[in-house]
Amino acid sequence: MQAITDRRDDLIALTQDLIRIPTLNPPGADYRLICEYLETRLRKAGFETELIRAHGTPGDSDKYPRWNIIARRDGTAKGDCVHFNSHTDVVVVGSGWTKDPFGGELSDGKIYGRGACDMKGGLAASIIAAEAFLAVYPDFAGAIEISGTADEESGGYGGVAYLAEKGYFDPARVQHVIIPEPLNKDRVCLGHRGGWWAEIETFGEIAHGSMPFLGDCAVRHMGAVLTAFEDKLYPAMAARTTDMPVVPEGARSSTMNINSIHGGQPEQGADYTGLPAHCVPDSCRIVIDRRFLAEENIDEVRGEVTKLLDDLKTSRDRFDYDLREINLVLPSMTDRDAPVVQTVAAEIEKVLGKPAEFVASPGTYDQKHIDRIGKLKNCIAYGPGILELAHKPDEYVGVDDMLDSAQVMAGALRQILPPG
Ligand SMILES: [Zn+2]
Repeated sequence: MQAITDRRDDLIALTQDLIRIPTLNPPGADYRLICEYLETRLRKAGFETELIRAHGTPGDSDKYPRWNIIARRDGTAKGDCVHFNSHTDVVVVGSGWTKDPFGGELSDGKIYGRGACDMKGGLAASIIAAEAFLAVYPDFAGAIEISGTADEESGGYGGVAYLAEKGYFDPARVQHVIIPEPLNKDRVCLGHRGGWWAEIETFGEIAHGSMPFLGDCAVRHMGAVLTAFEDKLYPAMAARTTDMPVVPEGARSSTMNINSIHGGQPEQGADYTGLPAHCVPDSCRIVIDRRFLAEENIDEVRGEVTKLLDDLKTSRDRFDYDLREINLVLPSMTDRDAPVVQTVAAEIEKVLGKPAEFVASPGTYDQKHIDRIGKLKNCIAYGPGILELAHKPDEYVGVDDMLDSAQVMAGALRQILPPG
């Protein structure tokens, strides 16, 4: 514990360094740079490192290669491997900042920057935890792995999914995974809801706008779809409950976001000064983002939407639609009695003096790939930072929170990797 406290300045500098590498995704910038930074750092701590490019995954190109790093330090005896996985990418800056988003400013015990909380602070805390553990217990049984992976913010296909496909999360190699996402230092996150993304298109017939009765308006058809969602789907979803301890509580039922809507003529650029042509739209598209619970079956989730659309086909004149699935992520939930859950929860109680809270995430994160592709169930998210700050302007991570969670992580290492 003292070894962590002694590293306070080092932790601050490390977090600032990571924030100052602007690993924006999209487009997926500077992955190589951050991997090389981590490589230098972790080699000094005795880790063997491997840089892996996820060739051919979405967005991977010579301009924006999807680089990942896996660092491993084996102990002096055989035992379990504890893996800390952090994504290195950050989302678009957006407006409303009063701090430099890539400055890493330290003020009032908080470090500011895009990715400070989601999740470079967690990455830094896990590195400090491992380094402190290794300094105190150079002889231990088992292994520690630390990975920095690409593209979590865009689905993780060029990061954890790729590595899982290559066997890096095989339960024969790795037995415990901690993902230091910003779920707050006193919570163990067991998993996440599922997500189903689809584009729905309604069709019409183009005609002159002064005689819409000679055509068929695709936007009005979409209006009927949205009305059916309001009248039937949203109330049905809101009535569903779950045993998943999802936070915030509003996400403890099914939800659906209408991500976008577009009908009629393509929107013109801001520099276009012409007027729109008078046409009845022959196409309207929406993208839906449906989040579902562990208790819901994906076939029912899909079927509920297609039934409403099929009903409109019979009840509404000239109604026709197309539904194209964009992406699907199934829910993931680790058992509460899984070893990594129990160990981290016990360490939280030891460090913070109160029982750990068990939560699940409203959105998905890389646990899905570790679970589905890697077939590794002993996985949680645990890390410093306030979840609600993720992706917001003036995102920050608290230094004390990072230190506390590093204590918890180091304590978990000591429990799982017995010192020699
Ligand atoms: Zn994240």
